[in-house]
Amino acid sequence: MADKPNIRSFPLEELIKMFTEKGEKAFRAKQVYEWLWKKNVRTFDEMTNLSKDLRKFLEENFSIPHIKIKHFQRSNDGTIKNAVTLPDNLLVESVLIPTETRTTACVSSQVGCSLDCKFCATARLKRMRNLTPDEIVDQVVEADLQSKEYYGHPLSNIVFMGMGEPLLNYENVMSAIEKITSDKALGMSPKRITVSTSGIPKMIKKMADENPKVKLAVSLHSAIDEIRTQIMPVNKRQGGLQELLYALQYWYKKTKSRITFEYLVFKNINDDEKSIKALVNFVKQVPSKVNLIEYNPIDNKDTFCQADNEILEKYQLALKNAGVVSTIRRSRGKDIDAACGQLAGKMIRE
Ligand code: SAH
Repeated sequence: MADKPNIRSFPLEELIKMFTEKGEKAFRAKQVYEWLWKKNVRTFDEMTNLSKDLRKFLEENFSIPHIKIKHFQRSNDGTIKNAVTLPDNLLVESVLIPTETRTTACVSSQVGCSLDCKFCATARLKRMRNLTPDEIVDQVVEADLQSKEYYGHPLSNIVFMGMGEPLLNYENVMSAIEKITSDKALGMSPKRITVSTSGIPKMIKKMADENPKVKLAVSLHSAIDEIRTQIMPVNKRQGGLQELLYALQYWYKKTKSRITFEYLVFKNINDDEKSIKALVNFVKQVPSKVNLIEYNPIDNKDTFCQADNEILEKYQLALKNAGVVSTIRRSRGKDIDAACGQLAGKMIRE
């Protein structure tokens, strides 16, 4: 039974081909596609506008694997964290962050992560595999249901800031975005989707060329190569800040969409004048804004410590003087380990 192929792994064109070869009309494939991606049914029996025979055929030849919410925790600030079980029993996490006017889902793109950013809890989990497009879409569907149930309005925004590096699972993330935004599926606006990356220049350029109309966020955390490499080893592997900058300038040229830089300020790491100057010089070279984000300690033996407010204010002032917009983002959901960088899953397999 487990060997039956996942019907959601087939693009619409392939479903149409399979259906017509079987002597079914092409529009039947479109109906199935709509049940799968727009109405999100979990069984073939629910596809009530298909004949019993066709439903039986589908049941015998395909499966519809689905994620399950295993644990659900609600923070005292309203943030919801889900431990999500995948069909092969691996675990990822997704988070739902409400504000008065909107709800943002923070979704995972990989089980574990290969990047090894020193300040991030997910880095401690070995990368096990990429999520499939349907596993990513399912997180969004569940988040939308939870948003309606707990906050009384549908999901409004999606950020790829959960576990994993979305641009190292590029094809599946793009396919999920296509499903999330297509009229034939969820039909959400791509403008409300943010892909957050540690900065993979080649993939940033590829995404710029394909231009799915989403927003791009880059986890920068230092604009000095040695320091960035020390806390984010991916920096050196990907050719350093200059390569990143070229890719971001290319992104802007192609998409005209301003980049958001995410930036943590740590005591004794990037809390000095030199770091501030370097950031200002870096971000001035491409239309962008800066999100100064609060560090969430990930365990006791941590070598990282959030810098004082006074340093954040220095950063803000320097950015303002250079004409760059910045905001300070306070953390949400800390009491349930749902804040940025805290997604590690107590165990990765059930
Ligand atoms: N791999 C992607 C997306 C996942 S990380 C990326 O690097 O952008 C999502 C955001 O959380 C990133 O900006 C990341 O740098 C930040 N983050 C990681 N660990 C953190 C921590 N302990 N406290 C606060 N933010 C953290």
